[in-house]
Amino acid sequence: MINLPQPAQKIIDTLKKAKFAAYAVGGSVRDLIMGKPTKGWDFTTDAKPEEILTLFPDSFYDNQFGTVGVKIKEPEDIYEVTTYRSERGYSDHRHPDKIIWGKTIEEDLSRRDFTINAIAFDGKTIVDPYDGQKDIEAKLIRAVGNPSDRFAEDALRMMRAVRIGAQLGYMIDPATADAIKTNAQSITSISAERIHDELMKLMSSPYPGDGVLLMRNTGILKIILPELDASFNTQQKSPLRHHIYDVGTHSVMALKFCPSADPVVRFATLLHDIGKPKTFHQDESGLITFYNHEMVSTKLTRNILERLRFSKKDSERILALVRWHQFSVDERQTDSALRRFIRRVGKENLADILALRIGDRLGGGAQETSWRLELYKKRLEEVQLQPFTVADLKIDGHDVMKQFNCKPGPIVGKILAQLFAEVEAGTLPNEREALLALLSHLSHKIKIGVATNGEE
Ligand code: ATP
Ligand code: MG
Repeated sequence: MINLPQPAQKIIDTLKKAKFAAYAVGGSVRDLIMGKPTKGWDFTTDAKPEEILTLFPDSFYDNQFGTVGVKIKEPEDIYEVTTYRSERGYSDHRHPDKIIWGKTIEEDLSRRDFTINAIAFDGKTIVDPYDGQKDIEAKLIRAVGNPSDRFAEDALRMMRAVRIGAQLGYMIDPATADAIKTNAQSITSISAERIHDELMKLMSSPYPGDGVLLMRNTGILKIILPELDASFNTQQKSPLRHHIYDVGTHSVMALKFCPSADPVVRFATLLHDIGKPKTFHQDESGLITFYNHEMVSTKLTRNILERLRFSKKDSERILALVRWHQFSVDERQTDSALRRFIRRVGKENLADILALRIGDRLGGGAQETSWRLELYKKRLEEVQLQPFTVADLKIDGHDVMKQFNCKPGPIVGKILAQLFAEVEAGTLPNEREALLALLSHLSHKIKIGVATNGEE
C-alpha cells in the first residue's frame, strides 16, 4: 500500500473538491511505487489552467504548455499541475503543433513516453493501462504504444529512454531498443541544448557507461558524438603497451571507473582520448603510438562543447582536464615542474584531474594507483604548502648589488622579480650557478648607473 505525501494529496483533494479529476503522474509516481525518494511532483487534471490558478492562490502559470506551478513552502519541492493533453503529432520532434486538451486520464496517459512514466495515482486508485507496474517489476523501459511511432513523434524520447534506463539501472525492452535503432537519425532534429541536458543527466546517473554503450549500439552516439563513436574502431593493443581495449571501450571503462560524481569530470574522462584515432601510428614492429593525442583530443573536445552549447565555465574545466590528462608522475620531476603543472591545470581542478587519472588507469586494466602516483599526490600537496616567493630564489639582493656593483634601490627588486618570474614559469632553474650566470650576462647589457638615478 502506497501513500502520497501530504502536500501532494492536498493538491489532488483541492481539485477534487472543486469537482475536477486529478492524479499524480510521471516520475514521482514511478519512484513512489519503486520505494525510492521522489523529487518533483507532476499532476494531471481535467481542470483548465485558469481554473487551476483560481484554486491555488499561490500558483503561477509558467509556460505555454498549460502547466501551472503550485508553490508549497514545507517541504519545498516542485509541484506542477498540467491539464490533460492528447496531442501526438510533434512536427519539430519536440513542441506539439498545438495543445489539444484531453478528455480522460487514459487519453493523457496514452501520450506519455514510457509505461513506467504512464501510471497515475490519486492516493487511492492506481490507473495503469500500459502495465507500467509490471515493467517496474521487470526493470524495463518500454514505449507506450508503438515505439517507432512514438520516437518519430518526438526524437528526444530516445535519449530519455537511455538516460532513464541509466538512472534506474533498467534494460530497454527489445522492441523499444529496435525502434531507437530505426529512428536514431532523427536525433538531428533535437536542439543542442536538450541533447546537452540529457547527456549531463546521463553523466550524473549511476550507470553512465552503460548508457554510452547503448547509444553506440543504437546508433545515437554516431550522430551526437561522432568523434567518440569513431574511437571504437581504433585499436591500441600493442607490444610494450598496457592497453587491452580499443580506444572507445577504454573511454567507456574510464568513465565507469571515474571516482568523481561530477558530470563535468565524468564527461571529460569520457572524451580524454578522442584524439587517438587521428594520431594513430603503428611501426613495422607493431608498436602503436598516439603522439600528441591530447592536443587533438582538446581540439575535438572544444568542437563538441561548442556544438552542444556547454557553458563557458564547464567548457574551461573540461578542456583543462583533457588538455593535461597525460601528466607525468615521474618522481624525478622538480618542484617547479610540479608547480607548472598546478598552474596549467588550475588548483581548483587538481582533484578532478586525479579522478580522471584513476578512471583512466582502472579503465585500462591497471591498478587504481601506484607508488609513483601516490608520491606525486603527496608532492602536489607539499609544493602547495610551501609558498614560493622571491625570497625562495637561490640568489638575493646582495648578489644583484655585487654583480651590478650598485647600491640598494628599486632596480634590485625589479631584477629579482624578473628572475623569479622566469623560475616560476619554468624557463629558468632555481639554481645558484645558473642565476648568477644570468646576472653576469645582464650586468654587461644593462647600465645600472643610469637606472639608479631614477630612470628605468
Ligand atoms: P525526472 O523528473 O526524474 O527527469 P520524469 O519522468 O518526471 O523524470 P519529466 O521530464 O519531469 O520526467 O516529465 C514528467 C512526465 O511527463 C514523464 O514521466 C512522462 O510521463 C511525461 N513526459 C516527459 N517528457 C516526455 C516526452 N518527451 N514525451 C512523452 N511524455 C513525456
Ligand atoms: Mg519529473
